[in-house]
Amino acid sequence: MTADATKETLGFQTEVKQLLHLMIHSLYSNKEIFLRELISNASDAADKLRFLSLSNPDIMEGEGDLKIRIDFDADEKTVTISDNGIGMNREDVIHHLGTIAKSGTSEFLQKLTGDEKKDSQLIGQFGVGFYSAFVVADRVDVLTRKAGEPADNGVRWSSAGEGEFTVEPATRAQRGTTVTLHLREGEEEFADGWRLRSIITKYSDHISLPIEMLKNEPAAGDDNEAETKAEDKAPEYEVVNKATALWTRSRNEISDEEYKEFYKHIAHDFEEPLSWTHNRVEGKQEYTSLLYIPKRAPFDLYQREASRGLKLYVQRVFIMDDADQFMPMYLRFMKGVLDSNDLPLNISREILQSNRTVETIKSALTKRSLDMIRKLEPEDYKAFWKQFGQVLKEGPAEDYANREKIAGLLRFASTHTGTSEQVVSLDDYIERMKEGQEKIYYITAENYTAAANSPHLEIFRKKGVEVLLMYDRIDEWMMGYLFDYKDKHFANIAKGDLDLGEIETEEDKKQQEEVEKSSEDLVKRLQEALAAKVSEVKVSHRLTDSPACLVAGAYDMGAQMRQIMEAAGQSLPESKPTMEINPGHPLMERLNAEVQEDQFAELANVVFDQAALSEGRPLEDPAQYVKRINKLLMDALGS
Ligand code: ADP
Repeated sequence: MTADATKETLGFQTEVKQLLHLMIHSLYSNKEIFLRELISNASDAADKLRFLSLSNPDIMEGEGDLKIRIDFDADEKTVTISDNGIGMNREDVIHHLGTIAKSGTSEFLQKLTGDEKKDSQLIGQFGVGFYSAFVVADRVDVLTRKAGEPADNGVRWSSAGEGEFTVEPATRAQRGTTVTLHLREGEEEFADGWRLRSIITKYSDHISLPIEMLKNEPAAGDDNEAETKAEDKAPEYEVVNKATALWTRSRNEISDEEYKEFYKHIAHDFEEPLSWTHNRVEGKQEYTSLLYIPKRAPFDLYQREASRGLKLYVQRVFIMDDADQFMPMYLRFMKGVLDSNDLPLNISREILQSNRTVETIKSALTKRSLDMIRKLEPEDYKAFWKQFGQVLKEGPAEDYANREKIAGLLRFASTHTGTSEQVVSLDDYIERMKEGQEKIYYITAENYTAAANSPHLEIFRKKGVEVLLMYDRIDEWMMGYLFDYKDKHFANIAKGDLDLGEIETEEDKKQQEEVEKSSEDLVKRLQEALAAKVSEVKVSHRLTDSPACLVAGAYDMGAQMRQIMEAAGQSLPESKPTMEINPGHPLMERLNAEVQEDQFAELANVVFDQAALSEGRPLEDPAQYVKRINKLLMDALGS
């Protein structure tokens, strides 16, 4: 189609159709938010225009008074939202009001269940935007013209929100966009000045642009003579919102409600934030930041290309959305505004990447965010951890300087609580450390059950020493960057020699030595039988109930990390574990008594495989294992 084509009917992208359907069915209890969404778009359009005018003043067309107007017509049952912002041309309209460009949209929509209550929560996460107009309107008309383009390059877009829309050329002398809602039957209440004003106050007071409405709408049947006289007078508008940038006001003048609504505006979120912090920094650098922790992770938290970052302003002029240079990746869920007095107005993304001021602000905002997270109330922290804990775990690797602070925010399952639901902090752990305990002990495994039942825990259970249970895929990798916390070293209890420090008594040690001596022969025989599988066989001091366990070398990759790397197609150097045995276990005693070497070797292999299985390691040759066990079963059953 060429740009000068006349009226054209086009179909919405499938995702838009799904979204529209869902929206109309799930927002019925919160219909009024359509106005917030459309005002938000109008305000963004003004911000974009102002930004472009920095490098191209002509684009203002001599009219720099940016504003939003809300009109209504009770007889026609319409509500109109107009702005003199950036506007759209035909291409923009088809793209922006016909498709959804966000990455991951179709994956998101696949998650929908058909259960309206659940879905309406999900849709809140996704953000509703322009299409929410159809919650109250059964026809929406848009008349728009892009700034800097000729008046007859305007476009009229119209749709009933069902499967298609029309676009046709139009003339619009003034740049900007007018959205007209033809209210559905039953939604006439919105064509009312008082109602509209109260919605604006509730949701959009913080918009820095003036929002105007007609002063004293003449009531029907008013004095006729006065009317005629006033006829050729331009209608008088008045500003109905505060119209100052919220973050420039002082903290004690801003209500919680205003902070929350402002969050919804900038984050395109439907839910309230979990917390926020608003600060003005003066001195060498001058800037104001307003940072929010959302309540819920966005659907695209793990999408590489997902937009993230803060809304950047320079001296109150909007510069860009998603300025991602001011927050580290592991805090990518943070939302907010940064208004700097020091950055140049013509700053670009490229310059942001290598700017000293940016680095300093980033470091300050990172600290501020970590502090805000730390100060969350316990209940809020729980919610936060569920949503963002995984992301925060990327922190120690990315932000070495703050690793101690980040470590203080981490939560883990632990042998202390006995359920995967209840997690503990490192500070809790340190508080409970036993006398003489020097290290923070942890174990990594595939899942909670494997970690909680690992034979490696036996001695710790016996001594009443707490062990952190780590089973998130990222844990082992993260621990590669965390060596200590508050001067206490971390120790993976399934790796290397177990140093129990002072927890082990002199008596324990003496006993251990004796057992080692008396088991020399058994150890040697096992080592020969399992030479292909183990690097060494040793007498264990970590086992009390199990016959044997496997221990990775101190610098070996753990089983979990190995599996991740192998799944990613990396070939890894062979690394054989050490097998530790518990000579006091009846099975070991029986094994020791076995004089037939081939029978001994068979049993030794079974013991090795079981040690692997009990900590969730995959067997190299499961069929062989089953064969051996079956043979033992047959023998036991006396066939
Ligand atoms: P979002 O605002 O989250 O991007 P919307 O569905 O609300 O999503 O809007 C889609 C796009 O349509 C916007 O990103 C913008 O490019 C364009 N748009 C919407 N309203 C306006 C407007 N009043 N002026 C200019 N562009 C607009």
